[in-house]
Amino acid sequence: MSQYDYDLFTIGAGSGGVRASRLAASYGAKVGVAEEYRVGGTCVIRGCVPKKYLVYASEYGHDFENAKGYGWSADNVSFDWPTLIANKDNEIDRLNGIYIRNLKNAGADIFQSRAVLKDEHTIHLEAEGRDVTAERILIAVGGSPYVDENVPGHELGITSNEAFHLEELPKSVVVAGGGYIAIEFACIFKGLGADVTLVYRGEDILRYFDADISTQVHKEMQRQGIRVITQALFDKIEKRDGDTKRVHLSTGVHIDADCVFWAVGRKPVTGGLGLEKAGVETDKNGAIKVNDQSQSSTPNIFAVGDVTDRVNLTPVAIREGAAFAETFYNDNPTSTDYRFIPKAVFSQPPVGSVGYAEHEARHEFKNVDIYKAEFRSMKHILTESGERVLMKIIVDADTDRVLGCHIVGEEAAEMIQCVAIAVKAGLKKKDFDDTVALHPTIAEELVTMRTKYVPTTTDAP
Ligand code: NDP
Repeated sequence: MSQYDYDLFTIGAGSGGVRASRLAASYGAKVGVAEEYRVGGTCVIRGCVPKKYLVYASEYGHDFENAKGYGWSADNVSFDWPTLIANKDNEIDRLNGIYIRNLKNAGADIFQSRAVLKDEHTIHLEAEGRDVTAERILIAVGGSPYVDENVPGHELGITSNEAFHLEELPKSVVVAGGGYIAIEFACIFKGLGADVTLVYRGEDILRYFDADISTQVHKEMQRQGIRVITQALFDKIEKRDGDTKRVHLSTGVHIDADCVFWAVGRKPVTGGLGLEKAGVETDKNGAIKVNDQSQSSTPNIFAVGDVTDRVNLTPVAIREGAAFAETFYNDNPTSTDYRFIPKAVFSQPPVGSVGYAEHEARHEFKNVDIYKAEFRSMKHILTESGERVLMKIIVDADTDRVLGCHIVGEEAAEMIQCVAIAVKAGLKKKDFDDTVALHPTIAEELVTMRTKYVPTTTDAP
């Protein structure tokens, strides 16, 4: 008989916490899980899943226009935001129910409560007003949107959390940030009919991606009519008449809009968790420091997912949670492989990316070949959209291994999931070339790019 109430107690029922808890329980561990908001976590409740529904809704805004080139008349179309939000909420409720059921069916106890550490084996459940103990504790509390509180009037802005529950579609939106959330929501609001301005502090948006991808997304956003302002920050936000807010930028200009949207990153939500009482160390951003086994500085306390600020993506948190459960509850030491993780930005058109960006490859490999194609997809020959596709393959010239692949264009995310298998498997450019094209598709370009890209003097920085 264990001296603790639980073999494993998980704080946070998001993607990583639920996967670890379900697996551990299925391997026979006595598991408790505390969640202060809703089981499912950011991805299911107010992240990837509801966001993708908003993306789908927004794409129709372009589809109705494009359909005209195919003979459809799509006049007098209208959009109803409350219908979208209600339908999206129904689906989120359904998924939330499934997550709860799956945890219960696996045998885990669920506590709807904030949980804080009292020491390395004791958890205080605030809603229950009592303590429980556990041999191991897994912290999977994720992150939350960061807002720059130094900006006067910052509280007049919303974050992605609130965006999913706005009562009305804003007529005009100013977005701060140039990362995933900023780009995705700028495109969502634009496709649904809002006037959108994006304000980014750096030289170009999506700076962690290949530079050609950033440029292409920037161009595509501008083509749709999104105003992209770079090298500018929010200085101050003021309330004006009615719902209008005025955003003053560091460049001296101001923008009026009825929605101001902060998308300037996310931070691990470790404040007030009692980590110091349990000896759990964090970095300067509050992320829990862990080793390859997701083990914190306190040996019986582990952490997975965004709270560790490694690769902040749902499928990665799921892998980390599974590796933890396999290692400690199934006698099957497992670690997470962070190489060649495919990534997507659900901009319109979307981005799909795997492996090395050109600048990363040039930094790490002596000789690098670049293959690049930019074209109008067949679908848009008959439309007036002007949307273009960009594809780029990065190759180690010494071994012919494909190091990276980057796509901006319709279905880029779907394509890159498949390409990632080839890139992770270490396939060579010759393997791509030897594969027969599937015609007519956008993806066929991936196996028909033969000419190495030679930079011209106009490409020089
Ligand atoms: P990102 O880290 O992607 O982007 C944050 C952006 O805000 C950057 O452009 C950054 O600029 C800028 N920024 C940071 N601080 C400030 C500041 N004080 N003032 C002005 N601008 C600032 O964060 P997101 O919030 O967009 O997304 C968080 C994470 O969530 C992502 O990293 C990703 O892992 C995940 N995510 C994944 C999605 C997907 O897979 N499709 C979708 C949404 C989120 P700079 O570039 O100069 O640092």
